[in-house]
Amino acid sequence: IVTVCTDITRSKEAELALQVAYAELERLAMTDELTGVPNRRHFLAQLESERQRALRHRRQTSLAMLDLDHFKRVNDRHGHPAGDEVLKHFTELLRRHMRGEDVVGRLGGEEFALLMPETAPSGAQTVLERLRRELATARLDFIAPGFSYTFSAGVAGLSLVAPATCDHWIYEADQALYRAKTGGRDRTEFFQAQQ
Ligand code: GH3
Ligand code: MG
Ligand code: MG
Repeated sequence: IVTVCTDITRSKEAELALQVAYAELERLAMTDELTGVPNRRHFLAQLESERQRALRHRRQTSLAMLDLDHFKRVNDRHGHPAGDEVLKHFTELLRRHMRGEDVVGRLGGEEFALLMPETAPSGAQTVLERLRRELATARLDFIAPGFSYTFSAGVAGLSLVAPATCDHWIYEADQALYRAKTGGRDRTEFFQAQQ
């Protein structure tokens, strides 16, 4: 009888290190580098799975598109790094106001999306107005003395009667956002099917 013993500590350690590296890679691929929130791709994946869940269980779900107002001016007046700080400030604010099951994503530039499961558009409005109230009193003196900013939002509830695809759902929220912008900014508008 020959007994062979091999120390596999090294290969186990290497395997573990590889797993950690893969997990980190996966996290990086899903996350927006500047703000730390899910990036567009990751958000869209979550939107689709939440859409399916909502339809299966017939749950009200709202999607809000948020866009910072006159953000180009922030960069022009205070510089790009200051603009980056505003984006981070806004995501922090979103994080604080979100519930556990809500999902926030940075869709690009100064545009964010907020997915609110188990929430009718009226509930989404409450959340957004609370956010708006807090932002109205926020002064980012580290950007410039008394600096403040606003956002516009468009909300679309997922119809359980005539379910939209994710693309169309986003389109609906975007339509509402467009009305918020053309209506004067710093406000929330809601998608209306008959518009
Ligand atoms: P509106 O109220 O109509 O939304 O006007 P706006 O100026 O916010 O919109 P516009 O789309 O004209 O400008 C968006 C600006 O966002 C332009 C771009 O330079 C800036 N931006 C996009 N991504 C970033 C970023 O990562 N960091 C910074 N600092 N600026 C960014
Ligand atoms: Mg903007
Ligand atoms: Mg924009």
